[in-house]
Amino acid sequence: MQNKDSCSFCTELNQKYSATSPIKLTKLLKKIFSFKEQGIIEEINIASEYFTPIDDIIKNGWSDIIYSEFECNYCGKKFELSADTYHGNKNNAWVVK
Ligand SMILES: [Zn+2]
Repeated sequence: MQNKDSCSFCTELNQKYSATSPIKLTKLLKKIFSFKEQGIIEEINIASEYFTPIDDIIKNGWSDIIYSEFECNYCGKKFELSADTYHGNKNNAWVVK
């Protein structure tokens, strides 16, 4: 189920993805990192006190709290990533804003 208002670049990201297990979270983080590497999405609101750069997470491992927002460089669609890796959480997810 995808929203209609995404562009062809970010359409794969344009749906909620619940990272309910470490394996799913790892998969999600790698996917986000790859889209950022390709220049399709970029991090926004990086001044937020909870902001955790995806580069750091990939390089140095998970922080207890992961939170970041992204924007598609092509259509301006916004996304949010949040995870509580310390407690584990069924709300860990990638969501379309
Ligand atoms: Zn887009």
